[in-house]
Amino acid sequence: MHPHLKEVLFTREQIAQRVKELAQDVSHDYEGKNPLVVGILKGSIMFTVDLLKELSIDAEVDFMDVTSYGYGISSSGEVRILKDLSSVAHGRDILIVEDIIDTGNTLLYLKKLLQGRGANSVKIISLLDKPSGRKVEIEADYVGFEVPDAFIVGYGIDYAERYRQLPYIGIFNEEFLIKE
Ligand code: 5GP
Repeated sequence: MHPHLKEVLFTREQIAQRVKELAQDVSHDYEGKNPLVVGILKGSIMFTVDLLKELSIDAEVDFMDVTSYGYGISSSGEVRILKDLSSVAHGRDILIVEDIIDTGNTLLYLKKLLQGRGANSVKIISLLDKPSGRKVEIEADYVGFEVPDAFIVGYGIDYAERYRQLPYIGIFNEEFLIKE
């Protein structure tokens, strides 16, 4: 385990197994469709790629980069688009791929945005769900794991751009917070 973590929550093997199960559900639900899988940068990079590899249906992939965090560890509530979709959303069945739902602000914003652009359907898959953090009413259609009220890193998920490369998911030890 990385020395800046307090605890490992999900190992590489547990994540791989759960991603496979989620991909089976998605493949079943989108049978005969060609969904636009929208990975939300950068936290969902690993999940998006691993999920795509396990799908048994045709799918297209695109990315959006949005942020609601600065260098702190709590969401500011204000969502900014840093990179928009390259694809047209109109008429598409969109599956938003998120790393973690906390307050729900990011996903509520994105869902409304893509619906407003005339998507045929907008669903959400989130690897992690932190229900204790919820401030707005939104749920993912598919969830990998529930996590406790703690700051999570690994498997694409960062703190100040670090720890994304870890193949497992764990709780960050806040003794290693960057002092501003
Ligand atoms: P929300 O808008 O639901 O509050 O937050 C969504 C985004 O906040 C996630 O995509 C993720 O980037 C970030 N986030 C929420 N909880 C955590 C956490 O425990 N650790 C990290 N590193 N990011 C988080």
